[in-house]
Amino acid sequence: MSYVAEDKRASRLIIAIDGPAGVGKSTVARLLASRLGYLYLDTGALYRAVAWAVTESGRDPADAEAVAALLPTFSLQMQFHHGTATVWVNGKDVSGDLRTPAVSATASVVSAIPAVRAWLLPIQQQIGQDGAVVAEGRDMGTNVFPAADVKFFLEADPTVRAQRRHREFVAAGHSRALEETTADLAGRDTRDRSRSTAPLVPADDARFIDTSILSVAEVVDQMMTVIAARL
Ligand code: C5P
Repeated sequence: MSYVAEDKRASRLIIAIDGPAGVGKSTVARLLASRLGYLYLDTGALYRAVAWAVTESGRDPADAEAVAALLPTFSLQMQFHHGTATVWVNGKDVSGDLRTPAVSATASVVSAIPAVRAWLLPIQQQIGQDGAVVAEGRDMGTNVFPAADVKFFLEADPTVRAQRRHREFVAAGHSRALEETTADLAGRDTRDRSRSTAPLVPADDARFIDTSILSVAEVVDQMMTVIAARL
């Protein structure tokens, strides 16, 4: 994992970024990580990998007991190489299979299962244990890295979020109606915000950024101003 000059990582901060789908978390987290020479930890990919494994196993993602029973039977790894992460399930690289609407929907369901969250917690914390990480998800600042050095919570108008996600799907070659993506995001939001374990809520000490009318560069600049004061 030592792919950057040591001096760029001297302060080894943990930067937590949370928020709902489509606010631009992944894009800005990746850019920040590359600018700082930090690791980019996409925790959604871990929930998606569990979803992928549940689907492969033929189990019902809504059956919490069946999903919990599957967890100890499979191996999940995130590997980092030159700033790019790959996700491996049972020794197979599944990274290219994780961003489909079907996996999104299943991830949203399995992520509400407390056993899944408990199982993924040490995996995430181990990746971030040495700092120098930009961790992105729904509960980074509240649950996974409550002592993070800098916490951001991104929000954006639901219409803008749906349009952004829709453009990503189309660019990735999926054909889908905007209305379907809008409904999908709304459903995932409600589940993420209302689940009993580690719901999507801002940490008390998180800084809010509304990305609705900001460019990616503007969001990154705002974040870098905050982070620079801590470096
Ligand atoms: O961020 P992404 O859309 O890839 O995440 C997929 C799903 O995983 C989300 O809809 C959410 O339900 C779940 N998730 C979560 N906690 C995280 C990251 C993702 O519950 N830290």
